[in-house]
Amino acid sequence: VFKSESQFVRWLQSHATLAGSELRLGIGDDAALVRPLRGHELILTTDLSVEGTHFSSDMHPAESVGHRALARALSDIAAMGGKPKFALVSIALSRRYSGEWIRDFYKGLFRLARRFGVSVIGGDTAVHPGLTIVDVIATGEVQYGRVMRRSGANVGDQIFVAGRLGGSALGLKMLRAGTKHGSRETQDAAINVHLFPEPQCRLGEFLSKNRIATSAMDLSDGLSTDLRRLCEASGVGARIHTSLLPLAIAPPRFRLTLRELERLALHGGEDYKLLFTVSPRRARSLPRKLAGMEVFRVGEITKAGALALVRDDGRKERLLPQGYDHFRCRTKRIEPLRKHGPSFGSS
Ligand SMILES: [Mg+2]
Repeated sequence: VFKSESQFVRWLQSHATLAGSELRLGIGDDAALVRPLRGHELILTTDLSVEGTHFSSDMHPAESVGHRALARALSDIAAMGGKPKFALVSIALSRRYSGEWIRDFYKGLFRLARRFGVSVIGGDTAVHPGLTIVDVIATGEVQYGRVMRRSGANVGDQIFVAGRLGGSALGLKMLRAGTKHGSRETQDAAINVHLFPEPQCRLGEFLSKNRIATSAMDLSDGLSTDLRRLCEASGVGARIHTSLLPLAIAPPRFRLTLRELERLALHGGEDYKLLFTVSPRRARSLPRKLAGMEVFRVGEITKAGALALVRDDGRKERLLPQGYDHFRCRTKRIEPLRKHGPSFGSS
């Protein structure tokens, strides 16, 4: 598709950049130049997408890989309460991949970028003999003093999630079971949740603008794993009620037990929904929908200690972080790198 690097760069230039007063120079010079908005802070995040760990060529079409690579970064910006602005995309492209693949990768990425007003202002591409590795750096802006952090939860705060949980893990399960995309409408919808996750940027901005959340983060590695990170940052504990969990809806032909759906909701990764806490007083009057997104109360913040899970019959268990064990192996062929290490703070 591309005969030379400069042809590729021209193609990128014509698709990548949206006009905006903050952008002074996009792709084409040695570096990009940006003028930040007055009274705002800059949010910076970077996310790796590694073949064999985050995607595999037999389950994820190139457009999905591009979409997901950017969605992960935008979700982190949403979690901080920011408005996403710019992205830089670097790819170490496997020699096994074609020119069509990289064009489709960018199609998926640009489509998401346009919808959220994000300009791709730079990056780098190299072809190499190894696996394909993508790194997306994204920037966002938040009004000074309005950023949401993981560390603000207080004892008694109510815990909320935005949207249903476990949908991405369910979609992946279906893909692994050999369910083909394009067969039935309900199946496609379930698989699309995995292939094309929607970062909750509007909700993140709404929460921070209106000072609704005392703490927030995005769910990338599963509720049981991510909630523990939020609790550690806040120095608190938490209690989750299974009866309150908004479970993913499986298509009729793909039957799962309630327990299986609960497991996906608790431990399934890559949902990219926002997890946030709200003071008890504010929680009482919180509408069921915020910024067009249905929000669900799933539990409450407790004193520091182990996370607890309250079953429907009232039995109490420890909620252990099982996101990593369950979804460690993301492909059939390739042993992935360790993804859910606690030291990777911005995952
Ligand atoms: Mg995150």
